[in-house]
Amino acid sequence: MSESPWYQNGLHFKCTECGKCCTGSPGYVWVTEQDMTNMAAVLNTTLELFKRRYVRMRDNRYALIEKKAQSGDFDCIFLKDKKCMVYQARPVQCRTYPWWKENLRTPESWKLASEGCEGINDAAPIVPFEQIERMVSANEVTI
Ligand code: SF4
Ligand code: SF4
Repeated sequence: MSESPWYQNGLHFKCTECGKCCTGSPGYVWVTEQDMTNMAAVLNTTLELFKRRYVRMRDNRYALIEKKAQSGDFDCIFLKDKKCMVYQARPVQCRTYPWWKENLRTPESWKLASEGCEGINDAAPIVPFEQIERMVSANEVTI
């Protein structure tokens, strides 16, 4: 029988909508065909145009493009005034943050994630284990 994960009693988190996870150093927001279809619909454009304007190919996968902000950070193309322009259709990778396997590997990884995400703090409500696991599974489509 496998051991229970270290976070079996849940973890403290509540998103403050600070937008920090949509900016920072260069990285990849991987998107699936379904993600792109959903975002294209919200932007009232076609999937073909969406792909031409908003994504790049890397390792045979699609990722959103970034723009360099005045701060020198690399903002997601859809970040405007700290808000996501496609929020209701945001990709699974965004929707499931910070519940990514690499952040949950050990208490230390979670602590490291908290340095980039102010929503991870002891004053935030506890997100139950079952909910965390649902998010982890949902994110597997993008890995
Ligand atoms: S960094 Fe954390 S608190 Fe800020 S928007 Fe992203 S998930 Fe929410
Ligand atoms: S799609 Fe939206 S939530 Fe995802 S990184 Fe871009 S701005 Fe942030």
